[in-house]
Amino acid sequence: MALVHYPVVNRNSEVIASAITNLDLHDLARLSRTYNMPGCYIVTPLKDQQSLAKRLIAHWCGGVGKELHPSRCEALRCLRVVDDIAQVRQDIRREWGEEPTVWATTASRQATALPYREARRQLSESGPKLILLGTAWGLAPSLLQGIDAVLETIRWEGTYNHLSVRCAAAILVDRLLGSGP
Ligand code: SAM
Repeated sequence: MALVHYPVVNRNSEVIASAITNLDLHDLARLSRTYNMPGCYIVTPLKDQQSLAKRLIAHWCGGVGKELHPSRCEALRCLRVVDDIAQVRQDIRREWGEEPTVWATTASRQATALPYREARRQLSESGPKLILLGTAWGLAPSLLQGIDAVLETIRWEGTYNHLSVRCAAAILVDRLLGSGP
C-alpha cells in the first residue's frame, strides 16, 4: 500500500504536495501490521515532511516511546518513507524480483473498475500488488497512467461516499484480505 502526498490534486484540481498527518501514519501502519501487509509506503518528495515522518517513527521505535508502547513500534516500523512512486516500484522490484501490479483508488465512480472479487483472485496468484491511496482531493490524473486498474469505488451507488483515506483503506484492505463472509 502507498499513501501518496504527491502528486495529488487540491479542490481546484491543481497538482499539489499535501502535508503528512500523524493520524494517517498511525492508522495505516496499524492496518498494515494487522493484515500482515509487507509494507506501507509514505510518498512525499518534501524533505521536511519526510523528516517529520521519520521523527515520528523514531520516537515510537526507540527509547521511552518503544518502552511505553512496544506494539506501536511494531506497527510503525511497517512504514517506508520514499520520494515518489518510482522509488516504491524500485523497492518492490528489489524485494520481490518483479514489477508490482498497481491498483489505484478513488471516490469517483469508474466506468471500468476492478471488482473486489477479481482483485482477490489476482491476489491469490503470485506477484506483488501495490495499492495507491490519495490524500488532499485524491490522486493526480498523471498517476493513473501506467497503472493496471482502478479498484471498484466503495459505495459508488450512494449519494455520498467521500471517506477519509484511513476509513477507505481499512474497508478495501478487509475486502481484499479479510476472512469475513
Ligand atoms: N484529507 C482527506 C482525509 O480525511 O483522509 C483525504 C481524502 S483522500 C481524497 C481520500 C482517499 O481515500 C482517496 O484518494 C482514495 O484513495 C480513498 N477513498 C476515499 N473514498 C473512497 C471510496 N469511496 N472508494 C475508494 N477509495 C476511496
